[in-house]
Amino acid sequence: MRNTAKILFAFVVVSLFNNVPGFGQKINNDHLLNATIWYQRAGEMKALCYQAYNLAQLRLDQTISKPLSGKLAIVVDIDETVLDNSPFEARCIINKTVYPKGWSEWVAESNALAIPGAVEFLNYASSKNVEVFYISNRKVEEKEATIKNLKHAGFPMADDTHLMLKTNTSNKEERRQNLLKTHKIIMLIGDNLNDFTDIFERRCPYERNFITDSVRNEFGKRFIVLPNPMYGDWESSLFDYQKLTPEEQAKLRKEFLREN
Ligand SMILES: [Mg+2]
Repeated sequence: MRNTAKILFAFVVVSLFNNVPGFGQKINNDHLLNATIWYQRAGEMKALCYQAYNLAQLRLDQTISKPLSGKLAIVVDIDETVLDNSPFEARCIINKTVYPKGWSEWVAESNALAIPGAVEFLNYASSKNVEVFYISNRKVEEKEATIKNLKHAGFPMADDTHLMLKTNTSNKEERRQNLLKTHKIIMLIGDNLNDFTDIFERRCPYERNFITDSVRNEFGKRFIVLPNPMYGDWESSLFDYQKLTPEEQAKLRKEFLREN
């Protein structure tokens, strides 16, 4: 009888666990299909990345053509800015899973490809004595695998000093402020508005758009934006940064559609 109770208890626990998104529950990720296939296969995606990094180089040349004192830095995000993690999204679609399931395994493979134009641009910056700092919300435990991946892909300054990963907060402002104590940040590159300034942090979609309009002159100058239709705060903001069920998320996505 005692064994039967144990088996029954284990069955209940496993059943509950299997229904938690990110663990055992099978999730229909078809909403991700078009964004991921575009990211992986559209020539336009590549062209946008080249456009971003070509423009970054032009701005860098303009900036360093004038005399500047002190140490210069370019801040880049990692995921979907210099490394392409779309195979992880593809796996989520195929395996019907959601982040974080499978993420640490993907990172440990250290096999993400470089975003088009990124390696060339950052090596160019490095050749001009501009330091590259990777401010990313990858976890500190993922540092070794991330450095290995960046080095393998050909990125410069992929080391302890130049990697500023997430410790206590995903807000990157503290890390930018720390860097400002020693360096002048001449450019920030990212796929998420929070990669540029914290005025976008935890804002609703309308506020994010409004603020974007208000700082429009920074884009293509100090702020260089990379495309990411697969995920990001643009999406989390639709859900008010809450953990919702796939059904609730699907409902909200439709509610945010604009018909005129
Ligand atoms: Mg990113």
